[in-house]
Amino acid sequence: MANIKTSNLPIETLRADLVRAAKETRRVVLSAPTGSGKSTQVPQMLLDGGCVPDGQKIIVLQPRRLAARMLAARVAQERGAELGTEVGYHIRLERRFGPDTKILFVTEGILLRMMLSDPTLPDVAAVVFDEFHERHLYSDLGIAMTYQLQKTARPELIIAVMSATLDSESLANYLAPAETLVAEGRTYPLTVSYSAAAHKVADAPVWEAAAHHFGKLAAAQPEGDMLIFMPGAYEIQRTVESIRGSSASKDWLVFPLYGELPPREQDAAVERYDARKVVVATNVAETSITIDGITAVIDAGLARIARYDPHRGINTLLIEKISQASAEQRAGRAGRTAPGQVLRLWSEKEHAHRPPREDPEVRRVDLSETVLALKLHGVEKVADFPWFEKPEKSSLERALTVLYDLGALDREERLTDVGRRMAAFPVHPRYARMLLAAEDYGCVWQICILAAIAQGRRLVLPLNNKRRADERDDLFGESTSDFFHALRAWGMARRKNFDIGFCKQWGIHGGAAREAERLAGQFANIARGQGLDASEGRMDESAVRKCLLLGFSDHLARRDNRATLRCSLVHGRRGELRRDSAVRDAELFVAAEIDEIETRGDVTTLLSMATEIEEDWLEEVFPGDLEEGTETYWDSMQKRAMGRRVRRFRDLVLEEKESGEPNPDEAAALLTTAVLEGRAELKNWNDSVEKWIARVNFAARNLPALGIAEIDDDGRRLLTEQICHGCVSSRDLREADPWPALNTWLSDEQRMALKTMLPKTFDLPGRRKPVDIRYEGDRAIISSKLQDFYDVDPKGLRIGGGELPLTIEMLAPNGRPCQITNDLAQFWKTSYEGVKKELKGRYPKHEWR
Ligand code: ADP
Ligand code: MG
Repeated sequence: MANIKTSNLPIETLRADLVRAAKETRRVVLSAPTGSGKSTQVPQMLLDGGCVPDGQKIIVLQPRRLAARMLAARVAQERGAELGTEVGYHIRLERRFGPDTKILFVTEGILLRMMLSDPTLPDVAAVVFDEFHERHLYSDLGIAMTYQLQKTARPELIIAVMSATLDSESLANYLAPAETLVAEGRTYPLTVSYSAAAHKVADAPVWEAAAHHFGKLAAAQPEGDMLIFMPGAYEIQRTVESIRGSSASKDWLVFPLYGELPPREQDAAVERYDARKVVVATNVAETSITIDGITAVIDAGLARIARYDPHRGINTLLIEKISQASAEQRAGRAGRTAPGQVLRLWSEKEHAHRPPREDPEVRRVDLSETVLALKLHGVEKVADFPWFEKPEKSSLERALTVLYDLGALDREERLTDVGRRMAAFPVHPRYARMLLAAEDYGCVWQICILAAIAQGRRLVLPLNNKRRADERDDLFGESTSDFFHALRAWGMARRKNFDIGFCKQWGIHGGAAREAERLAGQFANIARGQGLDASEGRMDESAVRKCLLLGFSDHLARRDNRATLRCSLVHGRRGELRRDSAVRDAELFVAAEIDEIETRGDVTTLLSMATEIEEDWLEEVFPGDLEEGTETYWDSMQKRAMGRRVRRFRDLVLEEKESGEPNPDEAAALLTTAVLEGRAELKNWNDSVEKWIARVNFAARNLPALGIAEIDDDGRRLLTEQICHGCVSSRDLREADPWPALNTWLSDEQRMALKTMLPKTFDLPGRRKPVDIRYEGDRAIISSKLQDFYDVDPKGLRIGGGELPLTIEMLAPNGRPCQITNDLAQFWKTSYEGVKKELKGRYPKHEWR
């Protein structure tokens, strides 16, 4: 495109302020709507404004590879420079820049890697965080790390944060003092309508709904181009096909736009044409890439969102409904150059129930790779790292556990030698660990393919043709790992150069196989970059299986028994091996995939991509994680404590054998817990025991001179434990006599004192039998008819050697309490008249003095 005019972009108004702020405050927070010129102009303004000394450059962090590449190309074009010279990009496994590059667009972990290899970023003058509102993990981390760097070794480093919808206040607070710059956008009015059609016909795929509405919207909006948002490559391709197949599209150019497309096709989607065009894109077109001339938007309302569930320990990349804020942004694409039409493929009612905004990645995804990087960066306690937003405690802990299980960290959270080497691999720590192991076992290339297969889509598909399916099973043969089936399928497809017909015939996902080839190549490059030998060679299956054990030891599972696919996993989890697994006869295996499937309210944890493990290998690979010993357990069927010998890998029981009588101390502890939790009963711990405890506790509180200890919850546990000692079963408990244990609570003197000072009963002169004393909390109560007290000397109503008053509960003739007092003499003088008057009226025949 010749003649590029950028001087009338809204961002132009901020040029002077930006350059001044960059030079003075060195921390700039900039918010301006999409299309204002942030990504393409701000780096140039800094460069042209003299913010970049010789030998240094500007780094622009982009959340998406596609955007980094296209922006670099665009900026290079605007400056009339060849891409890779003054302006370049560096994304994972792909780079185009040189020694003189001044503006470098980078993605993902590239900035992080730069900081790990040279923490002071000596050749960087400015770091620009673009699309910060997306809150990708790496921007969060990057901002924290550069901010720290600027406060320490690099005070002259410029930090600029840009976003389309910025919560600029919290960011400015975090970076304080920082300069906040805002550019207003020009937007034209939008007409937003909703369509619930896709929901009325529950089975209509979203691409058909989009194609259906395309025609209507094309007619309603006679000018301009259209943008359709779909969640991923697959849905985009289907939409493109559906639209191309419809009559409404005959004057239209139809383009897909997503990350995995070849660059040429990506560029074609943003070009301007004389004919009208419709671009079907992922959320890359939401704010990252501006496509000019859009006047209509159809939004499927979905996106593929990376999410980790720390409670279940499962990582997912699922299609989810986008937030209201995201839908707002997408709609905005239609109103940049003229009034626009927006159609949402969901109902207005449903819209109101969507979350206002998306959670930041730091609160959604698996943090193990990040934590490993922070460790390498020298962060001692990751919880204390100055996160822009702190991750959930549980997800940090989970990451630390995975890294510990992989041997990257020790118990004190310190990086091990293995961990240090792992951190150099820009892949998930699991794969880093496997690649390192593969070096020792001589199977790096195979692990590269396995890693590629594990990360990609399912390669082996179910075959409907039964004969063909059997034939394929025969061909694949017996196997000790589901990966080996996938590997064989991949090898077959590869030998036929991923021929579609061939793949279809054998139920192999050709696209996935081709993709695995590409990914495996990337893994191999990474491995070679770390000095590993990744040449192709014959496969030693045991070696590969050992590597898989190292990478997935936290997914080790043991089948409950031969008759079931149910199993226990390490970390106390339960699961079920998939029926179609090649290792359905294995007793011990690691599962690369753990899925939660919900059917009619029941949740099953399904284990797949499993690899059989020999128990001996655990000893060989993790000698420190095996433990053998005797332990006592509670058999809930027999209701008794039992002893067994147990062999464990971490917390997973590998083998257990009855070993006769349990250890008496452990049995007592188990029984105590059973009693305290109500699963077993001490029959003889009866009412009189409770009364005795009440008396002891009364003494403990009211007669401190006796030095008696109160029986609180701990005391009860202690006594229960003593009573349980020597017992192993519920029946023993039924017969156990509590008194020998209870008696130990008091010394002989204390017992004597209790007996005389806090007697169980009290002699009331008028009554033949002594009255019980009820010890309730801090009161010692006697109950008797009112008339029984007429002849009693109030001074005698005391216990505790005359120190403590008894509480008198007087009963009316009907046996109900009518008065309670601690001071009988006072009662006769004051309240008695009233009580008498009332009771006498009701019970005139009784004696009333
Ligand atoms: P922002 O980052 O604020 O969203 P950009 O800097 O990406 O804005 O884009 C500014 C303007 O530059 C857009 O409105 C668009 O007109 C133009 N532009 C950016 N990239 C390209 C490209 N690859 N091809 C054509 N025009 C582009
Ligand atoms: Mg931008």
